[in-house]
Amino acid sequence: MHDTIWKQIHDNSSEGFALLESIRNEFGEIIDFTWVYMNAAGEKILPPNRRGLTGKKLLDVSSRSKENGIFDEYVKVTETAETSTCERMYSIDNSPMWIRTIIVKVNDGIGITFSDITLQKKLELQLRENESYLRSITESIPQLVWITRPDGYHEYFNSRWYDYTSTSYDETKGEGWNKILHPDDQENAWRVWTHSLQTGESYEIEYRLLNGKTKEYRWFLARALPIRNDNNEIVRWFGTCTDIHEQKVTYESQLFLAEASKLLSSVFDYRKALQKVSQLAVDHVTDWISIELFDGTEVELAAVAHKDPNKIKWAKQLRKESPIDLGQKSGLPEVLRTGKPILYPLITEQMIQSVVKTEKELLLIQEIGFTSLMIVPIVVSKKTVGAVQFVSTSSKRQFGKNDLQMAEEFAGRIGLSIQSSMYYEEIVQRDKQLQVLYDSNLIGVSYVKANGTVLSANNAFFALVGYTRQEFERKNIKWQSLIPLEYSEIEAKKTKELYETGIATPFEKEYIRKDGSQVPVIVGKTLINKKTGDYVAFILDITERKKLEARKDEFIGIASHELKTPLTSIKGYVQILERIIKEMGDEKARALVSKTNIYIDKLDSLIVDLLDVSKIQAGKIQFSLEKLDISELVKESVSAIQPTTQHKISLKSKIKGLVEGDRQRLEQVLANLLTNAIKYSPKGKEVIVNISRDESFVYVHVQDFGIGIEEQYQKLLFQRFYRVEASSRQFSGLGIGLYISSEIITRHGGKIWLDSVSGVGSTFHFSLPLVNGKKIV
Ligand code: ADP
Repeated sequence: MHDTIWKQIHDNSSEGFALLESIRNEFGEIIDFTWVYMNAAGEKILPPNRRGLTGKKLLDVSSRSKENGIFDEYVKVTETAETSTCERMYSIDNSPMWIRTIIVKVNDGIGITFSDITLQKKLELQLRENESYLRSITESIPQLVWITRPDGYHEYFNSRWYDYTSTSYDETKGEGWNKILHPDDQENAWRVWTHSLQTGESYEIEYRLLNGKTKEYRWFLARALPIRNDNNEIVRWFGTCTDIHEQKVTYESQLFLAEASKLLSSVFDYRKALQKVSQLAVDHVTDWISIELFDGTEVELAAVAHKDPNKIKWAKQLRKESPIDLGQKSGLPEVLRTGKPILYPLITEQMIQSVVKTEKELLLIQEIGFTSLMIVPIVVSKKTVGAVQFVSTSSKRQFGKNDLQMAEEFAGRIGLSIQSSMYYEEIVQRDKQLQVLYDSNLIGVSYVKANGTVLSANNAFFALVGYTRQEFERKNIKWQSLIPLEYSEIEAKKTKELYETGIATPFEKEYIRKDGSQVPVIVGKTLINKKTGDYVAFILDITERKKLEARKDEFIGIASHELKTPLTSIKGYVQILERIIKEMGDEKARALVSKTNIYIDKLDSLIVDLLDVSKIQAGKIQFSLEKLDISELVKESVSAIQPTTQHKISLKSKIKGLVEGDRQRLEQVLANLLTNAIKYSPKGKEVIVNISRDESFVYVHVQDFGIGIEEQYQKLLFQRFYRVEASSRQFSGLGIGLYISSEIITRHGGKIWLDSVSGVGSTFHFSLPLVNGKKIV
């Protein structure tokens, strides 16, 4: 009956079930047990050699039952009816098999419920092993580590945790955590942790933990991972906290610096930007910041910000109560004076006491709260123009080297911003000045693109070229089309100068006006954009000056002409006089007349030169060309000049070469160079003349050892009436010899130039094309 019930209950169970009946001897003692029932699950759980036990006796099947206490246990349960639970390991084919049994008394025997817990045991064992492995790892890794039960209850912390937090297990388990977590981070941390516990999702957050020793909060990256068993159940939570304080602070600093730079560079009015970046600083890197500007005598609080806006008024009041004493040997005055930053990582009560002057000041300072301070200079062009003070107050943050570096970079950016706004100011100012010039219309101003398009111009420019602004724009008139052909060479040269040096020094040229007439101008250009090649041109109308010059030229022409006529008569009469005196035989009178003749010649040659100038100006100089042996020509000129001087003129070389030229004019050039060489070397004894040639040209070189010419004047010598001022008083002259010579040589297709060293001497060179020489294109 009972059997049937048991069977019914257990046939479909997943746990094994066996019934054993006791066998007693004549004294009523239990001497063995017989298996009377084994359910299907039991048959499966048991190892093959233990199957089919029904009907068999315990001691027959398992002779060791007595030694290992199983028999006694069965007896005890049968006799006392106490339930017995145990877990046993069997070795089956050398591998362990764990069976959990619950033995209860059934009739005069026992019922055994049993299940295979090998897998569970294995897992447990593994977990235990894992855990001890985990713990040994946790001790060796640099992170703080904790392990909790699946419900989140902390059961283990590694020793680093205890070191850092300076707490005991009892203090941190469970909610004890809050003491260590930064108040601002608690809410988030608990929210995330609860979420993870509910969902089994791992988490990763950043929070600040209190260092038990330094009482400083440091940033940590906290990660928690659930550890699961093979059934995917969470058996533990494993968490690590990695100290990311430096990275975090550096990151914050970098973020702050980047933001600050953006603000500082986007606003031209740096004062506005200073207030904005101060706010940014308290959002990211400090509790209190003040930016001070210093003009060399006074300090101005340009911007101030505090984490607690109410405290700004304290900060301002503090400044009022104790104005800055520039003579002070520490703090802000020291930084302003030395231009060197200072860092006070921890400000003690003692330090404060030593600097405050009044009770009121002390109270204010305490009100604001000072923990840590750094002051960095703001430098512009090597001058300290201010300083930034970073103050850490109640947040217990202490500034370190990294912070100081950040602060210096920050101040550097402020410096740059101040500098660029100064530049900007200057540009605006200059622009205004230019605008005044532009609007005044005293001078033509035009902005020209590299391709010649006139971008804009003032009225003076349009008046000059004779177009209206509208016409000019409509016809898209290019700069180039305003320039007469004869000026294209100088224009090209000046354009080159502009792009090479940024400036085209003023030069004379003419513009073609709308009506086709030409207007003489002086133009100077300055490059305004190197990349695009855009430039500004300043144009001065020199019509009046040119007219004046023309009148002067005309005067010179008339005057020299008027002088020449009587002089020719004087010359004639003096010659007659000379002849008469010769006949009279009065030696003294003859000598006087002959001297008079020399001066008449000098006067004549001056007047001839002046006449030449006006001929050149009028384009009326004429040449009568013939083929000339250059060596002969030079030799004759040297011979003609030699008797008039003490200097030795040495003709050092001779070449074969014919030139086509005006003999008289070329002699005039040579005479001019030779007399200059003599005149400007009063202490020299020699003038050296050389002749050379190449395939196309002959070259004549006249070298003296005289006063020389400074480089800056060398180019100007060939201009009309130009004389070097320093020597003009010592040496008489009109400053036209080289002008005429240069005109003669260039009209002959040659060039004239010089090499000279001031105080050492000069060599003037000229070239002339050879007859049958290779033509240079
Ligand atoms: P002038 O000699 O009548 O002044 P030039 O036209 O011949 O006029 O010369 C122009 C200027 O060039 C001179 O005034 C002088 O300053 C300078 N000069 C010319 N030749 C020499 C030279 N050989 N050495 C030094 N200076 C010279």
